[in-house]
Amino acid sequence: MSKIYNVGIIGAGVSGVVIALELAKYGIENILLEKEESVVNSSPFCHLHAGGNLYPDISTEECKILMKQSIEMARLFPQSIDQRPTFISIPKSETYNIKDLQDRLAVLADYYKTLIKEDPKNEILGSPENYYNIYTKKELNILAELPTVEVPKTANQWMTNAIKLVDYTQLKTPIILVQEYGWNLFRLGAQAQLALQKSANCNLKLNTNVSKVEDVRHLNLDYNWKIHTKNDIHKVNYLVNSCGFKTGEIDETLNLKVKRLIEFKAAYVSKWQPINGLIPELIFHGKRGTPNGMVQLTPYCNDYYQIHGMTKDTTLFENGLIQSKSNQSQPEFNNTIKKKMETGWKDKDIAHRTQNAINLVTKFLPTFKSATLGSAPLFGAQQIPGENPILRVGEVSFPYKFYARSEIIKASSALTVANQILNKIQEDFIIPAIKTTNSKNVILDSISKYEINALASKLAIQRGYPEALAKLVIDRD
Ligand SMILES: Cc1cc2nc3c(=O)[nH]c(=O)nc-3n(C[C@H](O)[C@H](O)[C@H](O)COP(=O)(O)OP(=O)(O)OC[C@H]3O[C@@H](n4cnc5c(N)ncnc54)[C@H](O)[C@@H]3O)c2cc1C
Repeated sequence: MSKIYNVGIIGAGVSGVVIALELAKYGIENILLEKEESVVNSSPFCHLHAGGNLYPDISTEECKILMKQSIEMARLFPQSIDQRPTFISIPKSETYNIKDLQDRLAVLADYYKTLIKEDPKNEILGSPENYYNIYTKKELNILAELPTVEVPKTANQWMTNAIKLVDYTQLKTPIILVQEYGWNLFRLGAQAQLALQKSANCNLKLNTNVSKVEDVRHLNLDYNWKIHTKNDIHKVNYLVNSCGFKTGEIDETLNLKVKRLIEFKAAYVSKWQPINGLIPELIFHGKRGTPNGMVQLTPYCNDYYQIHGMTKDTTLFENGLIQSKSNQSQPEFNNTIKKKMETGWKDKDIAHRTQNAINLVTKFLPTFKSATLGSAPLFGAQQIPGENPILRVGEVSFPYKFYARSEIIKASSALTVANQILNKIQEDFIIPAIKTTNSKNVILDSISKYEINALASKLAIQRGYPEALAKLVIDRD
């Protein structure tokens, strides 16, 4: 008789891998099925939203949740965190108010202190006094005259390097520097894949597409679900659907009708001239979907810079945000977007949209005009449960007994969802109650930086990106 697993997880994006690793940590046998050849290979991410400062429109409560969840994930995957700050500005053309951001930041700095009081290991964003710094025009004028620092160590040095390049006459003052860091998906994927392959409690099956799930709960067998793949049927007690924007496809095989949104987005990779010193990530806020949508410039190693521009002809797409129809669970993109996702992009589209992205940055950073195409874009679709397109903290739902559906919107929510599922499978008596919980994951901790470096580089190259995208700008021990 084939093996029965406690838990079957479909989809090894950031959510699926964290669920599998947390279950494995407590000795819970699971099988993780992923259709691609490596894990964390779908929707990209680059920013650790440790405070939600890229979102002026969300509530302070949501910002706190993003901060807490980001800290938890950074503790699990420290080798994926790039410790460079983020420059937050509002162009004079925009209606956002700097004072509102400042007020929210003051609350967040206090909240960060509380998190550190609860556990000193939460201090991963530097000291709470330096969580954010505010720069007036007068201070910026002084910093602009100071020499560039090759590898900045202090907030003032980071701001000095940035302000020499940015045309700050176009920006409202003050300008903010906040300790929201970079987040490297190749490094997170590498650490997770190595740990999963090492774990005795997780059976990771790559290149394995799930075609359907069969509900056998009513048959009183020793298992509740049959997961069908091309060559096998896997028997599991508890089912987890972490298929990202394809979550609805599994729901449909289970006859569930669910309202959800999915959104296709892309970030562009450019190469710029070598500059004298490292710069923070640069944010120029603006209203999403308008020609002045937010611009985000994310520095990588070896003069690569990734760009998001929240305009319809850069990161966003015509009909890129769609909703499931009343008789469906899985929304369907139009053929143009489907083609981009399934067979890749035409060279002329890559060149055109990357140039649009470069032009957006050039508005605020005149010397960026010389930037050129760096590589193919990073792209993917994001799922949003329900009908609110500005929701930024997703969640888990339990539509049937013994079935969990993970729908995270930001990668930082992955551990929260894993813990909710862990609680639920105890409540449902799939496993006996866990006596002592532990925030450390020893399997993940056993993977060395050198192993991560090697696999992360391999993953970047395998997926058609420069190896530099797998490295941190600020190397860690
Ligand atoms: C352009 C862009 C930029 C983003 N930037 C950030 C950011 O900076 N910070 C941040 O926190 N978040 C960011 N996000 C959001 C982030 O990417 C997602 O929240 C996160 O990746 C979702 O993870 P997931 O595991 O739920 O889904 P996914 O990453 O989509 O993983 C789902 C997995 O399931 C697999 N799968 C699907 N169907 C099947 C099947 N039938 N059988 C087997 N396997 C299957 C897929 O191959 C995939 O590997 C961004 C999203 C986009 C699109």
